[in-house]
Amino acid sequence: MKHVTHWIDGAPAGTPERTAPIFNPATGAESGRVFLADVAQVDEAVAAAARAFPAWRDASLVKRAQVLFRFRELLAAHKDEIAALISAEHGKVHSDALGEVSRGQEVVEFACGIPHLLKGGFSENVSTNVDSFSIRQPLGVVAGITPFNFPAMVPMWMFPVALACGNTFVLKPSEKDPSASLLIADLWQRAGLPDGVFNVVQGDKVAVDRLLSHPDVKAVSFVGSTPIARYVYETGTAHGKRVQALGGAKNHMLVLPDADLDLVADSAVSAGFGSAGERCMAISVVLAVDPIGDQLVEKIAERTRAIKIGPGDDPASEMGALVTREHRDKVASYLDLGEGKLVVDGRENLPDGDGFWLGPTVLDHVPANSRVHREEIFGPVLSIVRVSSYEEGLNLINTGEYGNGTAIFTNDGGAARRFQNEVEVGMVGVNVPIPVPMAFYSFGGWKSSLFGDTHVHGVEGVHFYTRGKVITSRWLDPSHGGVNLGFPTNR
Ligand code: NAD
Repeated sequence: MKHVTHWIDGAPAGTPERTAPIFNPATGAESGRVFLADVAQVDEAVAAAARAFPAWRDASLVKRAQVLFRFRELLAAHKDEIAALISAEHGKVHSDALGEVSRGQEVVEFACGIPHLLKGGFSENVSTNVDSFSIRQPLGVVAGITPFNFPAMVPMWMFPVALACGNTFVLKPSEKDPSASLLIADLWQRAGLPDGVFNVVQGDKVAVDRLLSHPDVKAVSFVGSTPIARYVYETGTAHGKRVQALGGAKNHMLVLPDADLDLVADSAVSAGFGSAGERCMAISVVLAVDPIGDQLVEKIAERTRAIKIGPGDDPASEMGALVTREHRDKVASYLDLGEGKLVVDGRENLPDGDGFWLGPTVLDHVPANSRVHREEIFGPVLSIVRVSSYEEGLNLINTGEYGNGTAIFTNDGGAARRFQNEVEVGMVGVNVPIPVPMAFYSFGGWKSSLFGDTHVHGVEGVHFYTRGKVITSRWLDPSHGGVNLGFPTNR
């Protein structure tokens, strides 16, 4: 049985004093144990990162970019291997796992452009013979705390940009699927990243709390559920850290009567059940504007019944198991509430064995004030809420707790433009069901989907991992005018 260790100062580290089980979701069997760091081990990782910081900060921009280019090549070459590790611990199918590695790789490619991204501004003669220029500098040791649902992509939203900016990094992955993080650490080393610049501590709340209070950790990026995101934001900022904490989601697809219903049904089923609904950008509610409801539900149900469920490593599988037994049971408990009308029941026709299975489920006529509609379920449950107008649908989206992603489906450009202006959500799709921004834009939601100011990756990521400085300089010239106690103004 495998043991998943920490990675500190360029080598596997830790002792199995405290461990947690890792499961294969497709069989339900325990496949390994992951080390859980105590305070001393977190301190060791932060100390390694702090030691490595001065030299990495001073490495030239080109040198840092060259390491990133080499890492990008190694990542591309080992994509299959990383995807296999993800499938085996998360349960998602191989093609889906490959997709997440590719989206992470795009952030690495963005970060390869760091020499350009870190260019400052320069103004000659802000006063006569005085110049001003701005630079952005790294923060020091920064930490990333990540969720189970994207064990490769979400960490790669963070560390490529953080490292490119000259910071050193401590990653605390999800304890449910930790193996990808160690392969990634190994690839960094092979790419020539100096030891200590990238570290991994496996762990739970103990490790998170130490990272949030450690005086040498300057910034924390967190992605996970809303209650923990709120806690991380409040605790980290109380300790004087810069924090961006991305939380949960409940994403609606608003379907206007003029939309192409086959495109809508394909999109809703793909976005609702891909990765068994364990995506923060999954569509979990379709708002069907009268009178298209019956016709749309029929098309969605037909496609849902055709989905092939099975182990992630079987190429025939389209949807895998859920991550743990507890999570599967929690998702299934929403079906026991009796809210809405069950059109497709995911508790039926499941694969044999003890895997954490729940099939794709469609609930129609879900009441707007029900728990199924209002709460994040994070599983393969697609709800249809019937609404009488665009305004009613928009109001349901804007009065919800979350504001991560949303989509409108329509052929009316004016309606789409109105929606993108009026909806209170951070990432909006127009006839695109999962509008995850590309690496050169920034990812983040509104309301309870994000605590903090900056979104991740893109230019906002560069801002998060650097702080600005403005230098005003004058070199000796004959115009030196003696003492002047007035406030400096331009001359
Ligand atoms: P989670 O909140 O349970 O865990 C996230 C991280 O926090 C993990 O590393 C975990 O070890 C740690 N953690 C768990 N409990 C903790 C505690 N009590 N104190 C301190 N740290 C703790 O989330 P999850 O179940 O791994 O992931 C699913 C959630 O993540 C969903 O809510 C999903 O919407 C959200 N998510 C959001 C985004 C986004 O971009 N907004 C992206 C991916 C996932």
